[in-house]
Amino acid sequence: MILTSHAIIGVAAASAFPSHPALAFSAAVASHYIMDAIPHWDYKLLSSKEDADAPLNNDIVVGKNFLSDFKKVFIDALLGSIASSFLFYFFGFGHSMLILIAGISGGIIPDILQFVYFKFRKEPFKSLYIFHLFTHSRYKKLKQHIVAGISLQILTISLILLLAKYLMSM
Ligand SMILES: [Zn+2]
Repeated sequence: MILTSHAIIGVAAASAFPSHPALAFSAAVASHYIMDAIPHWDYKLLSSKEDADAPLNNDIVVGKNFLSDFKKVFIDALLGSIASSFLFYFFGFGHSMLILIAGISGGIIPDILQFVYFKFRKEPFKSLYIFHLFTHSRYKKLKQHIVAGISLQILTISLILLLAKYLMSM
């Protein structure tokens, strides 16, 4: 899933533990893997190099396309931070800045750790990468359908936020 979705859902998950920042962060990290397991659309990174037979050899090449990919990811993360802060403060998803930060960072960190694995290829990043690959949906058909993909992602987020709001009001 895109980082915007991960940040929003991360904050919703973190809000379940308003006075436990460490638990809030863990819940946000867990939400990342759960959301990635659902078939979804992702934007393409031009510097991404995938090896279908040996996914441990996947890479993000720091070459000519890297800067434009970096901008894409940066805008995505920024948008996610703004959108989730907005939800956090205006839709009653929590009260403390620490929980907001735990939610955003926990929600997006598994994807950042993938990049760390690509550049260092060492533990514990390797195991985390294997876990990420294992939990990530292998359904690729949505890749070509950007409008359906984004709509589905908005729908998924909305349903999860509604569910989170409902659970918090119980
Ligand atoms: Zn991911």
